[in-house]
Amino acid sequence: MSDCCGGPECTVGTSAICQGCGQKGKSVQKLTPEHLLVESKVLELKKAEYFYCPTKTCDVVYFTNDGNQYFKKEEVKVRVGSKETEDPIPICYCFDFTRERIFDEIRTTGKSTTTSYITNKINGGECACEIKNPSGRCCLGEVNRTIKQAQLYADSPEALTQS
Ligand SMILES: [Zn+2]
Repeated sequence: MSDCCGGPECTVGTSAICQGCGQKGKSVQKLTPEHLLVESKVLELKKAEYFYCPTKTCDVVYFTNDGNQYFKKEEVKVRVGSKETEDPIPICYCFDFTRERIFDEIRTTGKSTTTSYITNKINGGECACEIKNPSGRCCLGEVNRTIKQAQLYADSPEALTQS
């Protein structure tokens, strides 16, 4: 089971420290915040390298330390799955898979077809993670993590800790 599509937007990139949480964020193409920030904030984007902060408890979504810019969750047009704790928690932005949908399938059928569905779509060139997913990267890693959690939960509901 692959953790990502292996495309250039997933495999290349640098990282920087988010001043909001002190954790590492990965670089995103400018295309990503351009599509996902609210309009007034898009205008503030500069010629700089932008990074995405995945930390759940951190309000910052995009930042650049050069220009000292920090764009927060409420300035992003979509729900940022990695920072949400309540449903719907988006996992795959290209084909609308939520955490709930993945959990539901495993609860009713015992398995998940999500990874193969998405992989087929990626191979068919139908995904647009760099402009739809706030991380600017493909969702397969997140999908696989969610499937594992859902299977764990189906086996023993009390074993699932909020992570
Ligand atoms: Zn942060």
